[in-house]
Amino acid sequence: MKSEDLPQELARCLGCRAKPCEKACPLGVSPHDFIAAAKSGDYKAAAALIAERNPLPQTCGLVCPDRFCQKACIRARIDAALEIPCLQAEVIRKGGLPPLELPPAEDTGRPKKAAVIGGGPAGLGALHEFLRHGWHIDLYEKNASLGGAARLIPEYRLPRAVLDAEIARLVENDRVTLHLNTTVNDISTLVSGYDAVVAALGEPAPRRLGIRGEENTLPYTDFLSAPEYRKSRKAAVIGGGEVAMDCALTLKKQSCPQVEMFVRRRREDMRIMARDQAALDAHGIIVRALSSVTEIIPDGKGGYTLHAVTNRINDAGRAEAIPETACELAGYDMIIMALGSFFPPAEIPTAIATAGDMSGTCGTVVQALASGMDAARRQIAAFAVSKEEG
Ligand SMILES: Cc1cc2nc3c(=O)[nH]c(=O)nc-3n(C[C@H](O)[C@H](O)[C@H](O)COP(=O)(O)OP(=O)(O)OC[C@H]3O[C@@H](n4cnc5c(N)ncnc54)[C@H](O)[C@@H]3O)c2cc1C
Ligand code: SF4
Repeated sequence: MKSEDLPQELARCLGCRAKPCEKACPLGVSPHDFIAAAKSGDYKAAAALIAERNPLPQTCGLVCPDRFCQKACIRARIDAALEIPCLQAEVIRKGGLPPLELPPAEDTGRPKKAAVIGGGPAGLGALHEFLRHGWHIDLYEKNASLGGAARLIPEYRLPRAVLDAEIARLVENDRVTLHLNTTVNDISTLVSGYDAVVAALGEPAPRRLGIRGEENTLPYTDFLSAPEYRKSRKAAVIGGGEVAMDCALTLKKQSCPQVEMFVRRRREDMRIMARDQAALDAHGIIVRALSSVTEIIPDGKGGYTLHAVTNRINDAGRAEAIPETACELAGYDMIIMALGSFFPPAEIPTAIATAGDMSGTCGTVVQALASGMDAARRQIAAFAVSKEEG
């Protein structure tokens, strides 16, 4: 959203008394209320209302999908829903991030201490909640920087400066001790040293197809973490979701002349927003819908030939290969595997609360934040009960 469009978009809000937009936000941010403050010209107050509930407010404004607050917006019944996430990002940009307010330190006794493992949105949500309750936190992160999978969202959608500033606001205080470049191999070892432990490990295992030649593919995590080092003249991206879309668009933005997406199901089944579908077309990305890659064969000249089949959607709603549709497609110099990831089954001690993508119920930054905050609240409540019981 352009800054000059902001007043016009704010003016479209109907100020619905039932606040359906607030109810639809996983964090309970109230577009109704922050829009009212922004309409009156008080962007600082509007930004404070958002940041009170959302620890990564501009980040969420920039990357939230349209299926939460925006989907609930009543204005859609008249013409079109307000573009609430974009409004939120712009309001924070104009109003600025309010300083993080911490409750005063307790003057007696040892401060309560939590371990948070994983510095992605869920871990940061947990950390924020512990801070609000006056706790001290040790944050363990295996990478050199915080942000988790949100750091793979391409720069053109989520500028690093925005993410870095919002994370710094949360962790740069004397109640947080960062342990970067630190992999916790056995999380159960932390239980005895802390009053509460939250694990928010994300989804470390990339999904695979199990086809011949798969070892020739590049995982999307490797590509998106340093795309500037990966140049291609003809690339194939396997996958039809947001991650695959980010890979395809990033390749195009790096001037790759030919980018083809291989999508198992129909184009309308792709799990991306309508505006992203339009972006694929605008950038000339070829979407091979109802196509499955079955084999990847090195051509001996540094490139690859793909074997693929055409699918149909059967009566059970599944994609299945149509017999005798196998074809060969030659000349690719990069094949990115972009089917997403999962958290492999693991035994987690009951004393540890899990949060975010690893719990299998999230998939977005805002949901991971909400899940992390909820996990911290549960741990704080359990600690209070254990103290009462002596
Ligand atoms: C390419 C891409 C595009 C996306 N686009 C969007 C979007 O547009 N909108 C949106 O809302 N969401 C998007 N997402 C999803 C979003 O980023 C994730 O849902 C969110 O980051 C999940 O947060 P999390 O904290 O649960 O896990 P993660 O972000 O994965 O964080 C887990 C953290 O734990 C650390 N860790 C793991 N194991 C250990 C260990 N043993 N010890 C120490 N640290 C450990 C990891 O290094 C990581 O930093 C996208 C994701 C990707 C990959
Ligand atoms: S539902 Fe839409 S129109 Fe109604 S208060 Fe929320 S943002 Fe405004």
